[in-house]
Amino acid sequence: MEHTIADRQLAAALLQWWQQHGRRAPETKPWMVTIERSWPLPDQALDPYGIWIAEVMLQQTQLQVVLPYWQRWMAAFPSLKALAAADEQAVLLQWQGLGYYSRARRLLAAARQMQEQITAGRPGSVASADPAAWPQELETWLALPGIGRSTAGGILSSAFNSPLAILDGNVRRVLARLQAHPRPPMRSQAQFWRWSEALIAAAPGRARDCNQALMDLGATLCTPRNPACGRCPWQDRCAAYASGTPDAFPVAEPSRSLPFQVIGVGVVLNDAGEVLIDQRLNEGLLGGLWEFPGGKQEPGEAIEHTISRELREELAIEVEVGESLISLEHAYSHKKLRFEVHLCRWNSGEPQPLASQQVRWVRPEDLDAYPFPAANTRIIAALQERLGSSAADSIADSSPDSSVDLPQAS
Ligand code: SF4
Repeated sequence: MEHTIADRQLAAALLQWWQQHGRRAPETKPWMVTIERSWPLPDQALDPYGIWIAEVMLQQTQLQVVLPYWQRWMAAFPSLKALAAADEQAVLLQWQGLGYYSRARRLLAAARQMQEQITAGRPGSVASADPAAWPQELETWLALPGIGRSTAGGILSSAFNSPLAILDGNVRRVLARLQAHPRPPMRSQAQFWRWSEALIAAAPGRARDCNQALMDLGATLCTPRNPACGRCPWQDRCAAYASGTPDAFPVAEPSRSLPFQVIGVGVVLNDAGEVLIDQRLNEGLLGGLWEFPGGKQEPGEAIEHTISRELREELAIEVEVGESLISLEHAYSHKKLRFEVHLCRWNSGEPQPLASQQVRWVRPEDLDAYPFPAANTRIIAALQERLGSSAADSIADSSPDSSVDLPQAS
């Protein structure tokens, strides 16, 4: 990749700024430091495992949110070997709250492939923290599930200082502004890759630092709204700043309104006070997670009818739909949903997984042991609060069989 004097000046200004203001503290990016807890020198390699986990977590999530998840993850699965041997439910549980659960499932599949590859032909050897045991070819990483060009470039440049570019959301935004690019970046991907590569080529031996600096610039100064141009090392070369309206870039795709659906959800209790949950099929955004059963409201249908119909169709059970537990809205990237959640009493029919992997009766206090999508965790909190107040009421009333009643509104 060719670079110009302008690229060299940009790279030099960026690295100089980063040296002083970058997010380089060991506690900020613990996956980016040596065992002596210092930032690596250009010829020092880092263990790719922690970097890989962080790169995947950071794909849709900000650094400060990722940090505690990464720490808990590393405590649960401290090595590639530990992750490769882990159960999928345990992995999803650690991922719970980060969203986009297919990332976690693909990460597990990729870890198993990588573990096999590293240990192949070396019986008894362990995929250890020794970076030399890991492959360093871009193609090898790109062949793994869930790893695209930017993630692979991020892992290899971070771990081995490989001269590979990255192009995540932060980098796209910074480059779109630097160039005042007149079209949405996703329509000019090849051009953006060339710009990112030119910067790496203009900083020989500093790919690791350059990529980190670019990300830090996007996350701390060149933010989506109100970029801090006054403190930016690229201010005098930035076309968006010169235009006077830097946050008009990147040019956005024309907005489209998201489809909206109402979902009727039943929190079904049996006489033992257990609640019914089912595990989604292993496909789609939330595949493999557990949820409370329910489905889409048909036009003109009362929500109580939606719930009893869905539970009959999907679980072959008959229920009595009781009062509302909670109503909540949740936006995904491609649709908005409103969940109307009602408490239900199980009347008849042995629950069957007609549209799921499995169904299970669970004690409400044990729900935390199952990975649920974000909207469902709010349902659990509402249920536990309702059951808590209901239990207090029943003690006060000394009702002998209150455990079989639907909990009453507090
Ligand atoms: S000058 Fe402003 S808009 Fe341009 S790169 Fe720097 S922070 Fe972003």
